[in-house]
Amino acid sequence: MFFWFDFNALLFVSVPEPVCVPVFSSLIEFKKAALGHAIGHGHEMQTQHLSRILTPPKPNEATMSAPQKNSWQDALSTLITDPDEFLNLLELDRAMLAPAQTAALLFPLKVPRTYLRRIEKGNPRDPLLMQLLPHGFELETHKNFTTDPLQEADHNPVPGLLHKYESRVLITLTSACAVHCRYCFRRHFPYSDNNPGTQGWDRMIDYIKNHHNINEVILSGGDPLAVSDHRLKEFTDKLATISHIKRLRIHSRIPIVMPERINAGLITWLQSLKWPIILVVHANHPNEICEEVGVAMHALKQIGVTLLNQSVLLKDVNDDAAILTTLSEALFAIGVLPYYLHLLDRVQGAAHFEVPITKAMTVYQELTAKLPGFLVPKLVREEPGKVSKTMLTSVQF
Ligand code: SF4
Repeated sequence: MFFWFDFNALLFVSVPEPVCVPVFSSLIEFKKAALGHAIGHGHEMQTQHLSRILTPPKPNEATMSAPQKNSWQDALSTLITDPDEFLNLLELDRAMLAPAQTAALLFPLKVPRTYLRRIEKGNPRDPLLMQLLPHGFELETHKNFTTDPLQEADHNPVPGLLHKYESRVLITLTSACAVHCRYCFRRHFPYSDNNPGTQGWDRMIDYIKNHHNINEVILSGGDPLAVSDHRLKEFTDKLATISHIKRLRIHSRIPIVMPERINAGLITWLQSLKWPIILVVHANHPNEICEEVGVAMHALKQIGVTLLNQSVLLKDVNDDAAILTTLSEALFAIGVLPYYLHLLDRVQGAAHFEVPITKAMTVYQELTAKLPGFLVPKLVREEPGKVSKTMLTSVQF
């Protein structure tokens, strides 16, 4: 069951299983269909959730802290990692098993169990499944696809810290992710060399202290929200001793794939920080936006976190203007602004996700025509050695 809510209209409706958000040609059609279903099925769940939206949860209330406490850690310790189990649970063809097992040896399978509800059973073309299921294509090698497509090794002055752009540094606090996205440009990243542990934090802090041009710290991945609240606080306590830091940015896919992580403990930590906080989540398809994600985003918005989304343009997943339009609308409805639409980074094992540039530009032009400017993410490509991401516009092609 999926529940949709709209913060402006305080509308809260439900649509039938199994897909979290069906891709309707427009959000209005979607809402009409969903509302029709809700009105026709005036059930208890709808009433409960309607009242929850009319009285949005406040951070630190018992409603948020008690039942959700540490449930994310349980979820993280019981991820689906066996392709056999994954295919069984989704009632998929056994012929997919052997290549999935081989590809998973290169980059293991990881999927949160609750995320499964958003994937349509028996559908090998499901756009969320395609992001997560190891595939035989990953074993192929392609010219220009490398293990370090962004040449991050050249910008790694201290273990755990990347300094690519002048005023920002990126910190990898952990190698852990709640999900393994098959297209991830860090799928070959040497996390073992870049996981300094708490002992290594002082070197990172010293580096930042000694570089006064750095005004923003980005916690990235792995997934920084896979780290416990206690350890996050330990790190930010050290960071708080540096006066030239003006902002803290967190890049995380966890609020999308495991929204129960946004619990009272995390909210308390965020509220304790002295900097403006920007959370950049990562959703690629509107089927990823479900009720729990909306509740999590609402809790973050209530404490003043700036919420942005970045997506990767992926062949046969979201390389379609209608899908991306619905994604932008769905994000906006839960308080998140589309930020970047990345062209695929050419990482070895992910060539089958690449969208040719001409098609990317066509899709982007259509998207631009469908949406107001503030809902159009910037189409970008990251190029090694450049001082910023490269924006792509139709003028260039
Ligand atoms: S969550 Fe982020 S870092 Fe982890 S595999 Fe996915 S894209 Fe890569």
